Amino acid sequence: MKNKEPKEPFSLPKPGFIIGDQCIYNGNGGNFEHRFPGNGEIQCQIPIAGAIEVEKAILAADTAFSDWKKIAASKRRDLLFKLADLVTENSEEFAWIGAREVGSPISGVRMIPQKFEAWTKYAAGWADKLEGRVVSNPRDDSVLDYTLLEPYGVIGMILTWNGPLMALAMKLGPALAAGNTVVIKPPESTPFTAFRLMQLVQQAGFPPGVINLVTGGAEAGQALVKHPLVKKIAFTGGTQIAKNIATSIAPLLKPAIWELGGKSANLIFSDADMQSAVRYSARQPLFLAGQGCILPTRLLVEKNIEAEFTERLIAEVASLQIGDPMEYETELGPVISKSAQSRIFDMISKSKELGDGTLSFGGGLPKDVDPNGYFVEPTIFTNVKPNSLIAQKECFGPVIVLMPFKTEDEAIEIANSTAFGLGAYIQSSDISRCNRLIEKLHAGGIFINGAPTARENAPFGGLEFSGFGREGGRDGMLEYTRVKNIGINTSRQ
Ligand code: NAD
Repeated sequence: MKNKEPKEPFSLPKPGFIIGDQCIYNGNGGNFEHRFPGNGEIQCQIPIAGAIEVEKAILAADTAFSDWKKIAASKRRDLLFKLADLVTENSEEFAWIGAREVGSPISGVRMIPQKFEAWTKYAAGWADKLEGRVVSNPRDDSVLDYTLLEPYGVIGMILTWNGPLMALAMKLGPALAAGNTVVIKPPESTPFTAFRLMQLVQQAGFPPGVINLVTGGAEAGQALVKHPLVKKIAFTGGTQIAKNIATSIAPLLKPAIWELGGKSANLIFSDADMQSAVRYSARQPLFLAGQGCILPTRLLVEKNIEAEFTERLIAEVASLQIGDPMEYETELGPVISKSAQSRIFDMISKSKELGDGTLSFGGGLPKDVDPNGYFVEPTIFTNVKPNSLIAQKECFGPVIVLMPFKTEDEAIEIANSTAFGLGAYIQSSDISRCNRLIEKLHAGGIFINGAPTARENAPFGGLEFSGFGREGGRDGMLEYTRVKNIGINTSRQ
């Protein structure tokens, strides 16, 4: 018998906008029919924010800022700790909402609330440790020179849909701990997690207006980024939308953190532990059905192990349990929407037509799943041309491409050949080789032999078309402060 969650252990919250102390259920942007990706059934009508709601949210955040930046740092820290604990107390519900909202298997998203707690508590710990420094003055010791780290004011957060609670974890704690107030804009496809979190924000006792929520699309996003009271943008999404936003905010010279797409390479050498390398290289790119920015979707395999590795990779992928995201056994669920499913199928058939590589596994609809769900079979292209479409373009679906290489230099050349630079991965037992490669790989983060990504105390972010700015760690905290320099001539009264 299948180990299935009871039919409805929780219910989806009816999402609205949180603006100051108000909860509003109607938006000027109209409505969005939210469908469960597992079977395509409508599960809720979502109000979409227009420019009017966004403006109100910004004004609420701006009003709250003057008090929030002045309250004791320990109070900001304690509120964030309380919020983190509340999320953990409700972790089963957040996992359930995440699975219903995005279609990610519940077994895969169950650890995200704990990650939220870790990220938020890490950031909270910085609240009373963000200090300036005394600057020495080599020519005039009568001048006392020092710096202050100040918050920006209102931060506009534009989120994508693939990991709603994780995206909030990476942004909210650092911005708030540093004394900023925020307006969060998730897309209409993932309104539930953010709304449920806002209920806990209220329960934790945050002052109204410190965190505001307006769910919506491009209209809401534009209203947010262009508003003069929004002092910095924290964006997670695709490269093209980032370019559009960058163009919109250029006249305002507004700073932004860009967490964008990727096509990360995983370099597999013959000296790697084969079993671990196969398991990692098969499963990691298919996490969230391949809908993750930093997933290692390009496998670069040393030629002398290509045949054995490919055979074992296909066997590992074939063993994955595909199905209803609400079932605990499910390891691979659907993608987010019908349009995402069509886009991925289009990309697969175009790559077949173009002869980008050999379709060695998958490429169609999986068997034994709800035919109305947005499923895509896990797909493997082998012997792929490094400069082809499927090797260069982000697919954001369960598609792995495999390319052989003969030398380290060739591996580096292929790995660095895309416009992105988010992550790079190495599977090798030769530490000297790893050290050589670290220097040459063009990526914001390099992860060796299965080391985890996106840890709360380490900087996460990309290069080039993967964006810039960092989330996590000390670097992530400093993104939400700006430096003020003070000079005092102490020789004058
Ligand atoms: P997207 O770029 O289409 O949308 C991102 C956000 O921008 C959404 O909230 C959307 O409503 C908003 N938006 C759209 N048009 C806008 C406009 N003109 N002005 C202001 N806001 C606008 O991205 P997506 O399809 O939602 O997400 C997929 C992308 O996100 C992928 O490229 C993926 O790699 C990337 N991603 C990056 C990270 C990271 O941390 N680097 C994490 C997850 C996803």
